[in-house]
This record gives sequence, C-alpha cells and structure tokens, in this order.
Amino acid sequence: EWINFVDFYNRIIDRFELTKDESISFNRLLLDYACFVEIDEDKLTQVLDNIISNAIKYSPEGGVITFKMEEKGGLVIVSVSDEGVGIPKENIDQIFERFYRVDKARTRKLGGTGLGLAIAKEMVEAHGGEIWATSIEGKGTTVSFSLPYVQTEEDDWA
Ligand code: ATP
Ligand code: MG
Repeated sequence: EWINFVDFYNRIIDRFELTKDESISFNRLLLDYACFVEIDEDKLTQVLDNIISNAIKYSPEGGVITFKMEEKGGLVIVSVSDEGVGIPKENIDQIFERFYRVDKARTRKLGGTGLGLAIAKEMVEAHGGEIWATSIEGKGTTVSFSLPYVQTEEDDWA
C-alpha cells in the first residue's frame, strides 16, 4: 500500500508524545512535502515502535529525542536520535542480533528481551531497506533505516 510517510511518521510520534515522560522532549525534522512509500503499515509501525521505545528507555532526564526524515536518491532515510548512554563501538552491529543486549546488568532493570531490533531489521529488509546505528558512548545513539520506492508530490507533476 502507498502511504504518505510524513503523515504516518507524525501519527506514530503523536502517540508517543501523549504518554512520554514530561522531562523528555521531542524534536521533529520531517519533510515538508508528501513522500509516498510502498509499505506494510503494521510492520513499519512495529519497527518504529521498537526504535522509539528504545530511545525513550535509554534517554536521561531532560533528554531530547530527534525524529528525522530525508529523501535521497529514491530512498527515504528515517532516523531517531537520543541523548542517552550510547552503545560501545564494538557492539554497535550486534544490537540487531536476536537476544543481544549491551551490558546485561545495566539493561536487566530496564526490561526487554533483546528481540526488538532483530525483528525491526527483518521487517526493514523485507521492504528492501537497510537498518543501521551510530553512537557515541555517553552522548547518544541514532538508529536509522532506509526504504526504497519513493514517490513525491513533485514526481506526480513532472
Ligand atoms: P525488546 O526490544 O525485545 O523489549 P531490548 O530493547 O533490550 O528488548 P532491542 O530493542 O533489540 O532489545 O535492543 C538491543 C540492545 O541494544 C538493547 O538491549 C540495548 O542494550 C541496545 N540499545 C538499543 N537501542 C539503544 C539506544 N537507543 N541507546 C542505547 N542502547 C540501545
Ligand atoms: Mg527494544
């Protein structure tokens, strides 16, 4: 199904905005024009729910979470950045493996099974996209994914 990803992303962020802790703030840097992507809405909702839950779970008090969306060469690049604990460089690719959790002691009290990002990876790849993360320990983490087959309003009129 063709979905305007700007509206879709905004709706998901709105839902988290209603329940988030007051001390965490959201910053949206989305496209200011409609951008259509062929996706399974339920699956992409699950992908974003997991990435955003992680960002909230690992954010410090007063942290800012930045939601971004860019269009680049027929792809849409979506990212969620936090100002949390971060992930050591040597573990950054492992977070997409099943049951992998950085620092068992630290994450045990925060809950979770370590499956969220493995499922997200599977779903993004099923859409022909890629998922990756960048992080600076103690500064924060950005989780990004790409989706192909972008069509914009501008294309329609070309
Ligand atoms: P689940 O999603 O199944 O509830 P989980 O959140 O622990 O559990 P994943 O979402 O797969 O599992 O994440 C794997 C691990 O990657 C986490 O346990 C955590 O150590 C690390 N991680 C993921 N996102 C972040 C983030 N934004 N900041 C810091 N660490 C993160
Ligand atoms: Mg998770």
